[in-house]
Amino acid sequence: MRIVALAGGIGGARFLRGLLHTAPEADITVVGNTGDDISLFGLRICPDLDTVMYTLGGGINEEQGWGRADETFTLREELAAYEVGPSWFTLGDRDFATHIVRTQMLDAGYPLSAVTEALCDRWRPGVRLLPMTDDRVETHVVIEDDAGKRAVHFQEWWVRLHAGTPAQSIAAVGAEDAKPAPGVLEAIEAADLVVLPPSNPVVSIGTILAVPGIRAAVAAKTVVGVSPIIGGAPVRGMADACLTAIGVETSARAVAAHYGPDLLDGWLVDTADGATAGDLDGIAVRARPLLMTDLEATADIARAALDLAGELRP
Ligand code: GDP
Ligand code: CA
Repeated sequence: MRIVALAGGIGGARFLRGLLHTAPEADITVVGNTGDDISLFGLRICPDLDTVMYTLGGGINEEQGWGRADETFTLREELAAYEVGPSWFTLGDRDFATHIVRTQMLDAGYPLSAVTEALCDRWRPGVRLLPMTDDRVETHVVIEDDAGKRAVHFQEWWVRLHAGTPAQSIAAVGAEDAKPAPGVLEAIEAADLVVLPPSNPVVSIGTILAVPGIRAAVAAKTVVGVSPIIGGAPVRGMADACLTAIGVETSARAVAAHYGPDLLDGWLVDTADGATAGDLDGIAVRARPLLMTDLEATADIARAALDLAGELRP
């Protein structure tokens, strides 16, 4: 079975661990979001790709859900001693090594897809991990506060401001002119099904779908998604602030309707949202527990997604 998954960071990575557990024989390609990428301290940082790579490769900080396990912060302290920021973006020493290797390779002329493959040679995530594009796409957020109206990088809004200042709009800058990374469209075309893990519908999945060609390729497939919204709220993070910015209600059904029946064939919602279940126009909706509390529970969610896809496949 050939599966393609579109993934952001934590929600995507955790779901993928369950998917690998329930379908160890499957050939899985993960198309990762790069809209969160940022250059800091002269280094290129790809938070979502790294979260997937570390989670599936066994190097993740489990409690935090991002960054490396057994981390130390000497480099950060030394930078602070020089008063070199930003101090709001935490990077540990082990994590820094990944960004140094990546930046060296990018500077030597390798595309991000080749760099990601090289990093995965170490981590062996058990999936083929592809960035959505080798081109530079950055999510920017328009906010207005005491400092006036301005666009900030997604990370500044998310990490420094905790999405506390309302987003007037969110844009994937550069997406229009981006090309899918080598292998992305081919993997989607060859796939038996495409899964949308419970990743942020706006700044993770939405950004991937904004790369020209990807949405149409995915829409041609049997597509099943897992709601990241349970009981009208994100399970963690501030996805509600992103949905509000694009005028979508924070509910499992509204997210499915936002993806639309042209894209989505099946949608898993939590039992907490089961009372409002019943199929949407053109989208088969099933209610089941969706909290990824441990590997077994997560594998059960992934299995339910595969079963629903099997049911819906023409
Ligand atoms: P990020 O890039 O690290 O923000 O991660 P993603 O975009 O991949 O996923 C973020 C989303 O995962 C959030 O909107 C959460 O609501 C969702 N999420 C986190 N844990 C769970 C869970 O246990 N169950 C479900 N259904 N969604 C979850
Ligand atoms: Ca992310």
